[in-house]
Amino acid sequence: MHEWAVAESIVNTISKSFGERKILEVNVKIGELRGLNFEVLKDALKILSKESNLENVKFNLLICKATFKCLNCGEEWNMRKALKILKEILQEDYYVEEEDELEPPTHFIPGLIVGLQRCPRCGRMDIDVRSGRELEISGVVVE
Ligand SMILES: [Zn+2]
Repeated sequence: MHEWAVAESIVNTISKSFGERKILEVNVKIGELRGLNFEVLKDALKILSKESNLENVKFNLLICKATFKCLNCGEEWNMRKALKILKEILQEDYYVEEEDELEPPTHFIPGLIVGLQRCPRCGRMDIDVRSGRELEISGVVVE
């Protein structure tokens, strides 16, 4: 239901900020680390904008890929690599034993990636998130 809260705040912000002016398009930047389901978000925007007399507004969701940077050696990598690193770490340390079987943690939260991974080059954990956490209205087209 997180998507609905996000959609609601976008629709509220737009309708408050632009009052009587006719809005044609709204660009929204969303980082992939937000863990939002884009299809659910699109549906929520459609339904909520209809209720707020913004039914003809076109919402453009711009997905920002996550990139990480090591503060120690300067190495940069993306989400695909991060998931690979995480998988390796999880196999070593974080699998929990459940009825004779080894199971990975059941609830995967993208935001956790940041705290768990290590630099693929030097192995340090001083990692900066360069992008992937965005959640902003980046542009509005009015008539
Ligand atoms: Zn490094």
